[in-house]
Amino acid sequence: MNGPEIHLSVAPELHLFVAAARRGGPTPLTTDGASTLGHVVESLGIPLTEAGRLLVDGREVPVSHVPGAGERVEVHAARRPQEVPGAPLRFLLDVHLGTLARRLRLLGVDAAYFSEDVGDPALAAYSARDRRVLLSRDRGLLRRRELWAGAYVYSDRPKEQLDDVLTRFAPALAPWTRCVACNGDLADATKESVRGFLEDGTERSYDVFAQCTACERVYWNGAHHSSLQTIVDDALRTYGGGARPQQQAS
Ligand SMILES: [Zn+2]
Repeated sequence: MNGPEIHLSVAPELHLFVAAARRGGPTPLTTDGASTLGHVVESLGIPLTEAGRLLVDGREVPVSHVPGAGERVEVHAARRPQEVPGAPLRFLLDVHLGTLARRLRLLGVDAAYFSEDVGDPALAAYSARDRRVLLSRDRGLLRRRELWAGAYVYSDRPKEQLDDVLTRFAPALAPWTRCVACNGDLADATKESVRGFLEDGTERSYDVFAQCTACERVYWNGAHHSSLQTIVDDALRTYGGGARPQQQAS
């Protein structure tokens, strides 16, 4: 290319997306003189979902800005917590994030997830139609134009993934209000009303407290699964939210 040269610096949080040579201080970059800054950022490997403020000579500019010769460009990471205006905060997770989906649901966060790979176009279309933030570790998926909103998940470990999403979007937490299996809402239930769904030992030992309004899965009070309760306790301690008594999924 033979266009204007700019000086570009990339926030440390975004270094994983760019070539090693771009990870230090400002580096020169020759643009084509016509491309927007958004395009330049994407061409470096940074999904636009991950770019926060874009500064040119210290002033914030939109992604549509066309960089000119000599400009000092700073690419910052998405702000935390990040606002997602225009719809209630809810998520859609790609096929690789099933554990994260169940943990978000456990905390009462609306997290749609398909255990089968429905394909990138279908996921992106669902994000747009249902106004859900698509969570993925697939940079190509996050570049799809039709997405309502998206976010890269920075770790491949479920615990860190959960922390990542909770710090980034600060969703309201309401543990034990959503079905971990299907994302449906739980409704109060009595042992009598769900007797047909219970095995004998369960019926004798536990008090039913809720049933999924979508898939009819039954949830009960009782000997709780300590690893789930630990996830809930850790999240409430760190991120707040309405505490509920200890409960156990069936
Ligand atoms: Zn359910």
